Amino acid sequence: MGMKPNQSNLDKGLGKLKIVVIGGVRFQVINPSAVLSDNQLHGQTVFKAKEIRVSTEDSPEQVITTFIHEIIHVITKFYLPPDQDLTEDQVEQLGKGWFQMLVDSPQVLEFLSTSLKRIWKERES
Ligand SMILES: [Zn+2]
Repeated sequence: MGMKPNQSNLDKGLGKLKIVVIGGVRFQVINPSAVLSDNQLHGQTVFKAKEIRVSTEDSPEQVITTFIHEIIHVITKFYLPPDQDLTEDQVEQLGKGWFQMLVDSPQVLEFLSTSLKRIWKERES
């Protein structure tokens, strides 16, 4: 139907995110697969452009891990003093830990979703 491969990849779910707000800053979630593939990267955060780039040409497991990894980068930058920045390896390990915990504990996301709905409702009123 003349659809670019990128668009069908986005339909896998990542495209629904569009925006992630971290530390009050709105980041756009995009998947410039070509750019990332050239550099053999799974993901990349561009702070100046406020973009979190995630390659969706990887396995679903890798896409999720990459997304979490990039979020940890942003949280680290915004919530830790500059002299306490995490190493790439520390970010990598934290991302893998988060991914594994979420895979092994589906009830965690259910709990968060239910609890957060209450918080979001209170915010509205
Ligand atoms: Zn990284």
